[in-house]
Formats: sequence, structure tokens, C-alpha cells
Amino acid sequence: MDFEAAGETLRARRAALQRELHALTARPVEATPSVSFGKRVGDGTTEAVERINTTAAARSIAASLAEADRALAKLEEGSYGLCDRCGKPIGDERLEAIPWATLCVACAAGRAGDGRRVGTGSSGGEDDR
Ligand SMILES: [Zn+2]
Repeated sequence: MDFEAAGETLRARRAALQRELHALTARPVEATPSVSFGKRVGDGTTEAVERINTTAAARSIAASLAEADRALAKLEEGSYGLCDRCGKPIGDERLEAIPWATLCVACAAGRAGDGRRVGTGSSGGEDDR
């Protein structure tokens, strides 16, 4: 696993997400015409609906941002590649596909309870008992 490349990917993703989030939250100031411009009935409603959409989009971006942040923090603390919930390796394949993954497949799928058999098929699975 190339940690440096992963870090770069994460930083780039975080920067892109921050820009997106900034554009979203900054938009109302620029795009919303002032009261003197086209004051029609219903404008407020449209704006309100748009605001909800914007909020939902902003929230999902913020969530992705938090993921990237968490993955970067894991890189720094040396736990990158290990599941945040069960501590098992997330797996190179998964990390290559999703460099910001902080949970293994089993935990991400919400099967934390029977996540004892992680690493099916992958080499080097050791059972300590
Ligand atoms: Zn896990």
C-alpha cells in the first residue's frame, strides 16, 4: 500500500470537497437576487426548497469531507488501512478503490456482529486462537 499516494489522493479529495462545500454555502449570497430584483409570489418557497436541497448536498459533502479527514488522521497516527471498528485490515483492494475508507467491508456493511471472518479469499489471513 502506497501511503504517500493515498495521502495525496486524500488531500486532493479534501480540497475538492472543501471547494464544493464553499461554493454551495457561498452561493445564496451571490445568486439570490436582492429584494428589489424580481419580487414574485412563490419565490420564497422555491428558495426554501432550494435551500433544503443545498443543505442536503452540503451535508453529504460534509460527511465525505469528514471521511477524508478521518482517513488522513489515520495516516498520521499510523492506523491507516485498519478498520476503525474492529481493527482488522481494510484490505488493499478496498483502499485502492476507496482511499478514504475507514471501515472494513464487513463493518461498512453493518455486519459488525459477525465480522469475525474478514479476509475471505485474501492471502495471509491468520487466526489467533
Ligand atoms: Zn471492521
